[in-house]
Amino acid sequence: MQNFIYLIGCEKTREAAVVDPAWDVPAILKLAAQHQFQITTILLTHTHFDHINGVEELLKQTDARVFVHKKEAAALRYGGSNIKKIESGEAVKIGELDITFIHTPGHTPGSQCFYVGDRLITGDTLFINGCGRCDLPGGNPEEMYRSLTGALKHLDDATKVYPGHHYADIPVSTMGDERHQNPFLMSGSVEAFLRLTGSR
Ligand SMILES: [Zn+2]
Repeated sequence: MQNFIYLIGCEKTREAAVVDPAWDVPAILKLAAQHQFQITTILLTHTHFDHINGVEELLKQTDARVFVHKKEAAALRYGGSNIKKIESGEAVKIGELDITFIHTPGHTPGSQCFYVGDRLITGDTLFINGCGRCDLPGGNPEEMYRSLTGALKHLDDATKVYPGHHYADIPVSTMGDERHQNPFLMSGSVEAFLRLTGSR
């Protein structure tokens, strides 16, 4: 499992966003408090249980707005008006930080990545040396191929990649390294990609 949960904070205003709050909400709150951050925002890469099982509890402790791709908003049966449905290309401000949403379906229909400065938070779309499963309900390997090669592959080499799970030896990579080592980004054609994922 080994989920990564990210806290993104503005050093000036002390506002912060939590990406995929799950498992240990007290630890998330403690980390925010240690850095004097106020959690105003929750960002969801997708709505699989292991990425959202702390959202409801975190909403009891904060008045955070929750940004989820519109295709997966129905998975959240709480939060009322705090739940914000978003689409690709939209952006949100956390203090002085701009976070842009990039829709990357394939692992799930509403999977998305978050672009912050020179950093990309990739959820279960792009892993270091891998990519998310496409054989779960709502998964689609052709869409995953298009997300990886269309939406993400053109990003600058220096872009740092922060995946949703700790499946590699290192926690952070770059788009440059992934372009040269990640077989799913190097597959070259949708047919080769499907063979690689075992989908065909
Ligand atoms: Zn997932």
